[in-house]
Amino acid sequence: MQKQTVLITGASRGIGKSTALLFASRGFRVFLNCRNSVDALKELQCTIQETCHTDCHIVPGDVGDPSCVRDIFQKISQVCEGVDILINNAGIAHIGLLMDMSDEDWDRIIHTNLSSVFYCCRAAIPHMVSRQSGRIINMASQSAETGGLAASPIYAASKAAVWCMTKSLAGEMGPYQVTVNAVAPGYIMTEMTRNAGYRDDMVPMKRLGTPEDVADVVGFLASEDSRYVTGMIVDINGGTVMR
Ligand code: NDP
Repeated sequence: MQKQTVLITGASRGIGKSTALLFASRGFRVFLNCRNSVDALKELQCTIQETCHTDCHIVPGDVGDPSCVRDIFQKISQVCEGVDILINNAGIAHIGLLMDMSDEDWDRIIHTNLSSVFYCCRAAIPHMVSRQSGRIINMASQSAETGGLAASPIYAASKAAVWCMTKSLAGEMGPYQVTVNAVAPGYIMTEMTRNAGYRDDMVPMKRLGTPEDVADVVGFLASEDSRYVTGMIVDINGGTVMR
């Protein structure tokens, strides 16, 4: 059977790294991306090759820049036909007041969190359509619904747009048997949220989330078990928002 290929953006640490380790442990061919932390990406590549003995490649680049995304997919095409599973995880947060934010802050957050999803989906979809199968999993956020506790309005807006794009694209991709879903993590302890002031007692389950808590749900959405699930936003939050 042909090896399934997964691209995980923002895989150098946090949720993306845990997700990469999960897919590698399941035998997928893994492409790892991030923008700046190329040494961390190389370290993860070595770990995966040594412990999981699976095919692992690094494709660094800014996914908020369309020309970088073209380069990333060009590199992927030198190794295989395309990406079967796309995980749009790369993201940045910005804590601060809207009145203090610059035009550059707006552009940076929107390009990284939202435009990247468009650029990567556009590049990945033709292969999925031709195979009549595929999985796209987007990283939304609890803040897309609540506005967020520590997140800026720009961050919350970017994630709300990802949420809506997920549903719209799921409709478009349905006839091709490509599922498109998103996850909405709550308070997950990573580098991004280190100084956000999250506490265990803010969560009904009395603990903050871990990157693995998110990765396991992403793994389910990428699996055959979720073949009839599309256009969904799956909350991963220990009960902080119940719908
Ligand atoms: P981290 O800050 O730990 O990791 C973010 C990753 O994204 C890093 O690998 C970073 O690498 C990469 N990245 C950032 N900008 C770019 C870019 N332009 N191009 C390519 N890679 C980029 O964050 P988390 O693991 O916490 O977050 C992962 C995702 O989950 C994000 O989309 C975040 O918004 C979302 N999320 C997180 C929550 C949480 O509580 N932690 C809650 C809800 C959603 P580098 O800096 O080296 O480029």
